[in-house]
This record gives sequence, C-alpha cells and structure tokens, in this order.
Amino acid sequence: MSLELKILGSNSAAFAHNRHHTSQFLRIQNTYFLIDCGEGTQLLLKKNKIKLSRINHILISHLHGDHYYGLIGLISTMHLFGRKATLCIYGPPMLADIITLQLKASNTRLSYDIDFKQWTPDEQELIFENNHMTVTTFPMNHRIPCSGFLFREKPKKRRINKEVVDSMLTPIQVMALKNGEDALDMDGNVLYENKLATLPPRPSRAYAFCSDTQYLPDLAEVVKDVDLLYHEATFTEDMAERAELTYHSTARQAAELANNANVGKLLLGHFSTRFRELAPVLNEALEVFPRSVLANEGESFTID
Ligand SMILES: [Zn+2]
Ligand SMILES: [Zn+2]
Repeated sequence: MSLELKILGSNSAAFAHNRHHTSQFLRIQNTYFLIDCGEGTQLLLKKNKIKLSRINHILISHLHGDHYYGLIGLISTMHLFGRKATLCIYGPPMLADIITLQLKASNTRLSYDIDFKQWTPDEQELIFENNHMTVTTFPMNHRIPCSGFLFREKPKKRRINKEVVDSMLTPIQVMALKNGEDALDMDGNVLYENKLATLPPRPSRAYAFCSDTQYLPDLAEVVKDVDLLYHEATFTEDMAERAELTYHSTARQAAELANNANVGKLLLGHFSTRFRELAPVLNEALEVFPRSVLANEGESFTID
C-alpha cells in the first residue's frame, strides 16, 4: 500500500455533533505528514493510536483557529515527552512568530528544534521533496492567505518479471533493469532485454488537500487525475450565497471540481455546525460525482 490517509477531524468553526476541527494524518510510503492541527488534534492522535514520534512534518493551510489552534499544545507535548528530532512546520507568514511568542511567554526551551518553512501565499510552490515524492502548495481563495497541498509520488521504477528472470542477478544488473536498460553479462552481452524482462512501474499516487476556499473552477487543472481529493464542503446549495460571502464552497461545487478534474475519489469535509446529519451534504455531491464520500473522523482511505 503506498498511500494512507486518516481523518482525525473534519468539522468547521466549532466542535459540534462529536466532530472536531480539521486535521489529517497522511502516510506516503514511509513519510508521514500531519495536515492542519485544529484544537484537540493531539487527543485525536492518541485516540487513533498514532505515535507523536512519527510526526516530522506538519503542514498548516491557514491561520483560522479551526486549522491550527492545536499546534502549540502538540508542540508542548512533544517537548514534555523529550523529543529530540527536528520538527518541520510548513505554514503561512506569521505562524512562526505566533508559535515563537507563545513559547517565549511560557519561558519554554524546547527539547528539539523546529524548522519553520514559510510557504508563499498566492503561488504554487514546491515545499518538500525526497527520493519518492513531492509536496506542492497551491493557492485557495479564502479571507486570509490559505493554501492547498498536493502530495505526489515520483514515477516509480520498472519491476523485474520473475517469471522471465530466473537467474541470480548482480545489484548492477537489477538496477539496470529497473531503470529501463538491458541487463548485461560480464562480457557486455545482453543477458536480459529490458522489454522482455520487466513489467511497467506501479502507478504513482497523488492526494490533493483543498482547504477553506471559495469555489475555484480552475483548480481542476491543478488536481487533475489525483487518486484522492479532499475538498471543503462547508455548505449545501441552498446556502450558496452564504458560501460565496464567507469564502467557502458547497458540496455541489466540490463535486463539480472532482468531476472536472477526473479524480479517483472525493472526500467531503469542513462541515458546517448547522448540519447535525451529513446526509444532505453527501447526497448533493453524489448527484454530480458518484465517487463522493464523507471525510468522517477516524476513517482511513488507502490506495494500493
Ligand atoms: Zn476552517
Ligand atoms: Zn478558514
């Protein structure tokens, strides 16, 4: 399994109907990300048996409280547990100042370093890269600077077809085949032709997190063909005016984006507290995009 997303919280504004503020835990291969950190996130991590030591990268979409008021609490708990590893926090301007001031006011010297990485509002920007994946920001249209995040696996290597390759290969021969070249013997002759001895690479997966935003039809280009799209659906169409006024989206708009972008699955979240039951939100999206689901707390979404 290459990608696993756990929904920790998915409500907007206030805690209501047993639903918490936005937070998600994402694993891509062996790299872990916490996306947003609303109030109560550390309790939800505990409830979901996610070790704090796994979290080395925290991404904050914007500075409305329902997306980051849990951050100082989580930082403090990591300190109390004696964390040593550097924590990377990717956020908008001012986040580093806020956290630094909070730590200063409590005269706290953390047991570990925080590496604040500020993303640039209104731009698409590569903010993380390792051998197997990248994270890119993309602008949302909200009342304050707000960013979405696109997680994308890099193209994978070809796979050796064990039904064809029956002899022991050297590491160099294995690497050649995986890189799309022929495997040569000691004398430089072709031992295995690549196109016969390998299978196509496994597909590279992508997940897009669209935080608080007014409906942005152009986003379809940015999130085109992702396997999993999370999009806020704070309101339903009967409150479309209110959605526009408050820089949020309706479930139908989220579904239209998913449809236009041809995504694998749409996760709806950031529910308004006015919905006790979420069926109206889901049903509205399903009319446009059949592969819509609710981002319910505690649920996991995996892509093999
Ligand atoms: Zn919000
Ligand atoms: Zn917001």
